[in-house]
Amino acid sequence: MSDIIHLLPDSVANQIAAGEVIQRPASCLKELVENSLDAGASHIRVIVRDAGRTLLQVVDDGKGMSSTDARMAFERHATSKISIASDLFQLRTMGFRGEALASISAVAHVEMQTRREEDEVGTRIEIAGSQLLEQDIVQCSVGTNIRVKNLFYNVPARRKFLKTDQTELRNLLTEYNRIVLVNPQVQFTFVSNDEILSELPPCTIKQRIEAVFGHSSKPYTSHLVDISTETELVKISGFIGKPETVGKNSQQYMFVNGRYMRHTYFHKAIMTAYSGLLLPDHSPSYFLYFDIDPDAIDVNIHPTKTEIKFADEQAIFQILLAATKEALGKFNVSPSLDFVSSTQLEFPTVSSGAMPIKAPTMQIDPSYNPFKTHIKRDSAVSNWEDLYTQNHEDLPNIVSSTSAMLFEDNPQITDTTPLLQCGNRYILAPVEQGIVLIHQHRAHAHILFKELCVQLSHSQALTQPLLFPEVIELMEDDWQTLQQLLPDLKGLGFVLEQFSPQAYTISSVPALLGQKNAVDTLLQVIHDVQDTEHSVVEQWQETLALSLANQMAIPQGKPLSDKEMRDLVNRFMNDPSRHLPNGQVILSILNHDDIQKRF
Ligand code: ADP
Ligand code: MG
Repeated sequence: MSDIIHLLPDSVANQIAAGEVIQRPASCLKELVENSLDAGASHIRVIVRDAGRTLLQVVDDGKGMSSTDARMAFERHATSKISIASDLFQLRTMGFRGEALASISAVAHVEMQTRREEDEVGTRIEIAGSQLLEQDIVQCSVGTNIRVKNLFYNVPARRKFLKTDQTELRNLLTEYNRIVLVNPQVQFTFVSNDEILSELPPCTIKQRIEAVFGHSSKPYTSHLVDISTETELVKISGFIGKPETVGKNSQQYMFVNGRYMRHTYFHKAIMTAYSGLLLPDHSPSYFLYFDIDPDAIDVNIHPTKTEIKFADEQAIFQILLAATKEALGKFNVSPSLDFVSSTQLEFPTVSSGAMPIKAPTMQIDPSYNPFKTHIKRDSAVSNWEDLYTQNHEDLPNIVSSTSAMLFEDNPQITDTTPLLQCGNRYILAPVEQGIVLIHQHRAHAHILFKELCVQLSHSQALTQPLLFPEVIELMEDDWQTLQQLLPDLKGLGFVLEQFSPQAYTISSVPALLGQKNAVDTLLQVIHDVQDTEHSVVEQWQETLALSLANQMAIPQGKPLSDKEMRDLVNRFMNDPSRHLPNGQVILSILNHDDIQKRF
């Protein structure tokens, strides 16, 4: 038998990577403008046509590239920004992966002109689908001018996912705002279809906020008060909205070391400081700039994600809470605030009385049982293996379309087949074809995913009331996503009630969730749904179900008893699939050939 494994050609590998990094014109804008900032540009121009579909051009006056670097920049993992692993913890640049230009040039026609100050002439490069088409010498000004034309020309599926020009232009401007608001020293211009939509001279942060959001006769920033604090751990500065002027369309921005971030926990600190000061349905605007030792944060997350991990979140929560209260108090915004220093503050927990709690109002129907075979209600949580004694004849389309692929060469595992757990991660079984390896977490996630899909289609599920209802506070875009998911979350057993403008109480959760933290689970679901492209309702229902299933499933690393293993494998083999709907492999077979080759 001839060997079948080979390395993918670069063009294919780059296209796969591009699927991760470049999802839409806005992600392309982010990568290109960040490169210009890293190159020290003082003026950056963004020019788009048809919301970036046909043209997305970024012109900067940064340091430019030599002709060798200009070519090298399009290679995957080619970067000038880090060289050794420890550099990752000292990042002061926006880029560091060396993936953006390689990815963009895999899925578009790219033309770049670049020149360094010390060079007489510049370099011009044309590249499309990862193939170099031309490289020559040009006369051009110092800096880099990069034109990305016909984005996704060779990836029709991606093109199909793009929304209307209006929506994509809004996405572009959202991304643009996230960058200009934290780089006020840089001049920016944004031109769309020959119309100048934004022209921002270098200025202070406050002037920049005014320039971006000020429209009416009254200055926008007159609604804001300064906030500023400096501790050994972190420096926080910026502006927050005066409670009496906050409205329904609040602008909420947080940045860390020059990078836009989403941080639900820190958002909660701000909302806690405002509690009691806001009208119902209103939420404050804020523009907060965190400065912290790069060592204390982890930005090595997915390139398109904006969550950032902090080493010391609880301490920063306290510092931010105190600073917000101080800002509100100092400007006499709220003279009645009992202002305490950060060291005196107790860590706020919802159950400690920081917020009033409503008693759960959920009524449970004890006779309801979504499973066809009988399950005693009180055993539902502790006895997880009993929960999938159901056949799946009536699975809705959302399952059959994606994951329920039976394999042709179905391995047979019977009650007498020995099972072995390996590394507390995989279940091994000898079968006719060789050895089957089952990923325990994903197999369980697959089973739960199907359960959840059934529940979604019937809108009924076993719920479990929480002893202490929890409060989930949300940032603006998370709030919007939650609104969209509410009916389905209810169908899955979450009981949510609006608590304040941007908060809900959670009084019951799906029984399958067990002891998992309800707030963390919901946030993860919200972010998973946001991070996945969806064009139709079934698709986000699938993401919702998969996100929950992944969170509920037994973790990797958990030792399983013989009975648990047997039960998991039996349930899984009842309706097996090699992959989860997101493509992750659940089951793999080491066949006799594979085994023989090892000896
Ligand atoms: P990264 O930014 O992660 O290093 P990119 O693929 O975005 O990866 O860029 C690769 C390299 O190309 C950068 O490290 C930088 O050296 C160079 N580069 C890209 N854009 C510019 C620019 N506008 N001006 C100067 N150099 C650039
Ligand atoms: Mg980059």
